[in-house]
Amino acid sequence: MRRAASAILCLALLLALAGCAPQAQTATVFAMDTVMELTAYGDREAVDGAVSLIHALEDRLSVTAADSDIARVNSSGGGAVDPGTAALLRRALDISALSGGALDVTIYPLVRAWGFTTGEYRVPGDDEIGALLKNVNYAAVQAGEANVSLPAGALLDLGAVAKGWTGDQIAALWRQVGVKSGLINLGGNVQTVGGKPDGSDWVVGIRDPFSEDVLGAIAARDLAVVTSGGYQRYFEREGVRYCHIIDPRTGKPADSGLASVTVIGREGVLCDGLSTALYVMGLEDAVRLWRENTGFDLVLVTDGGQVVITEGIEGSFTPMGAYTDKEIKVMRRG
Ligand code: ADP
Ligand code: MG
Repeated sequence: MRRAASAILCLALLLALAGCAPQAQTATVFAMDTVMELTAYGDREAVDGAVSLIHALEDRLSVTAADSDIARVNSSGGGAVDPGTAALLRRALDISALSGGALDVTIYPLVRAWGFTTGEYRVPGDDEIGALLKNVNYAAVQAGEANVSLPAGALLDLGAVAKGWTGDQIAALWRQVGVKSGLINLGGNVQTVGGKPDGSDWVVGIRDPFSEDVLGAIAARDLAVVTSGGYQRYFEREGVRYCHIIDPRTGKPADSGLASVTVIGREGVLCDGLSTALYVMGLEDAVRLWRENTGFDLVLVTDGGQVVITEGIEGSFTPMGAYTDKEIKVMRRG
């Protein structure tokens, strides 16, 4: 009897200890053209659920997969879509408007013409670019609860917001099932759920656009940290570098003087959409947009290597490596 009682006590103690130190459950997935790494402490099912979610969202949102919502809408000018796809499109249209059209979900004909969809890169002529730009106009897209309508000639591409949206969906799923500590890294789109298992903040590195190193780190808890940069995907012709983010005003790869834009905030899809948009807009307009809005902070790196951050992350950003001794400019609202 005594022995049984002490065995039960031992077991209870072991279970309590295991409860104190939840195991890291991880998965690596290749989806949405990138390597994704998921870590949730103590909940295998949550990680498996996230993997299924990623594949389901990719199947709906991919612009190239033949029977995705986006491909079907593009081939027929509109129609019924999953309510989630419609919700993402409505959010993306809001962010397109917020950015004055620097984000434009109808930029796809240009992305394709420059070869970024296929990898068969080319430099289209000005006439071709001008003709394709006539069909670029996010404001003419209509998105309802579960249906979409495109103006003639328009083609959708949600590539600039899909990963941020996916991160939001995973974070919501994990919170719903009680995950207290999780890290979602969707190829540079990082989202954190809670803090680390020991209670401290997650530390998210921001890549130096000019090297393989990190330029600094953000202490994050329940935050998205999303970076867009010309160094991520580009090709070169005759010494000129062409990046995969297109300026909807010119139809050409963005060349605004920024090397990378990191957006930090609660909502991943906003951070993702804005990181693309602000990369197009450049330093001054990016800071102006930040001053006129709330819900996000910025780490901007200019082509000259100057780092500019916004005041909301002054206490949580730590420069590293070559940036430790550089001046970091802090923008303020006032
Ligand atoms: P990544 O997906 O490489 O992390 P982004 O989030 O910045 O980078 O998204 C870039 C993708 O968005 C491009 O590959 C293209 O499909 C699409 N895109 C390019 N320029 C724009 C733009 N101005 N507005 C909306 N989408 C864009
Ligand atoms: Mg983006």
